[in-house]
Amino acid sequence: MREKIVRELESIVGAEWVVSAEEAVEGYLYDETPIPVRPEASSDVIVVKPGSAEEVSRILVLANKHGVPVFPRGGGTGLAGACIPTVSGIILSLERMNKIIVDVDNLMAEAEAGATLRDLIDAADKAGLSFPLHPGDEGAQIGGLIACNAGGARAIKTGVMRSCIKGLELVLPTGEIIRLGGKVLKNNVGYDLMHLVIGSEGTLGIITRAWIRLQPRSAASATIVIPFERREDALKIVPEIFRRGIIPLAVEYVERVLVERVGSNLGLKWPCTSAEYQLIVILSENSEDALLGALESLLELCNSSGALEPVVAETRKEQDEILRIRSEIYSILKPDMVDILDVSVPPASLIDLIRTVNELEIRYRVYMPVYGHAGDGNLHIHLMKWDGWTKEKYDELRDAIYAKAIELGGTITGEHGIGFIRRKYLERVLDRRTIELMRAIKRIFDPNNIINPDKVFP
Ligand SMILES: Cc1cc2nc3c(=O)[nH]c(=O)nc-3n(C[C@H](O)[C@H](O)[C@H](O)COP(=O)(O)OP(=O)(O)OC[C@H]3O[C@@H](n4cnc5c(N)ncnc54)[C@H](O)[C@@H]3O)c2cc1C
Repeated sequence: MREKIVRELESIVGAEWVVSAEEAVEGYLYDETPIPVRPEASSDVIVVKPGSAEEVSRILVLANKHGVPVFPRGGGTGLAGACIPTVSGIILSLERMNKIIVDVDNLMAEAEAGATLRDLIDAADKAGLSFPLHPGDEGAQIGGLIACNAGGARAIKTGVMRSCIKGLELVLPTGEIIRLGGKVLKNNVGYDLMHLVIGSEGTLGIITRAWIRLQPRSAASATIVIPFERREDALKIVPEIFRRGIIPLAVEYVERVLVERVGSNLGLKWPCTSAEYQLIVILSENSEDALLGALESLLELCNSSGALEPVVAETRKEQDEILRIRSEIYSILKPDMVDILDVSVPPASLIDLIRTVNELEIRYRVYMPVYGHAGDGNLHIHLMKWDGWTKEKYDELRDAIYAKAIELGGTITGEHGIGFIRRKYLERVLDRRTIELMRAIKRIFDPNNIINPDKVFP
């Protein structure tokens, strides 16, 4: 049977785009989910790399005919095991479909799903525009970013992926190719299936193309690191920034010990040594004057809010180094990590969440580094390995953090998604009827449960 499927796939995409040798498929089995929580992948898989939506369609028709599961795969940078093939089947990699066309007049990129985040940033830049969002690892692909509704540090001004997407080309699990939306900015025809697909983690169809809203390039930017002696003060200032009418590109919370450690690993020096609790604020404006106005207002606020002397980075190099250190925190922690949580709470409740994390650290005598998108109330909490760790203890810790987030009116994942590893927690956040509706929708899109069959639902 396997041989027959390989031959049929070869007849659709060409023999060079079908990979079935065990050593050759290895690089497609896992994503960036920490090893202690990620599921075991099946190595009995065939990787297929279509070159068009029509080829994707024929692959799905074939998979339905033989009842073979299909695992859509983007850049493999996901953190919830959502693209891992947990049973034998076909891995559908979009990597060959990576063209991007920029329509400058409509400020719109038309991107194939396999183009990476880096490709999109570069294409926008080349056209004199920008894609200011930085919703994931730069090797993430457009299809994966949309399927995960990724967010990232710079989602404050423009919103998460969902707010930038205006149209999708989608191949349904049964093989039909449909188009949802396009270059129009307003569209009120019928139910909005496009937004249903965004964030569906590869369970409702294969995204093959997207229309993505771009922005004008900002004329001036500055990155400000604001130190505080008290964590409360650092987090209390966040809503106040917005109340004053300052809308930064990013407001990130970090702790000095951690960023200094990451910096020294990268051979870089963290620029602010004066206190433990720090905010990174990125201001990005359309003119130098507007930047100065926002900066003045922010510095005034710092003065009256218990902050120590802020560090203002204005050169590209200084700003890039701060961002690089912030972006590499995950990679540096990963070898000693059991899990990364990305709970999300109303921004003003962040302080209560962090207090609970600290209490748990003391009670369990563990180290749980915390940082994250303070402006969005979306915090990354890391469960680190410690001597004598047991799965049960980590489950208790995770449960306690999820319970607190929910009690505060928040949710268990703000951007990484449910994927495989958080399926058992779905019922914590959603009532039974809501889950039933979601399952019914999955059945309508995918009657034979062909694509990503074991993801999202418990
Ligand atoms: C260092 C690092 C930093 C990160 N930072 C952030 C961050 O700031 N914010 C954030 O939100 N995430 C972040 N992530 C997570 C990750 O980058 C995002 O979740 C990203 O959206 C995953 O994209 P991918 O192409 O790698 O998808 P994959 O990991 O390959 O797949 C993810 C999901 O998308 C599905 N999928 C992929 N392509 C398609 C397609 N064409 N059609 C349908 N379904 C598809 C898969 O089946 C799977 O369900 C980070 C990850 C790392 C390693």
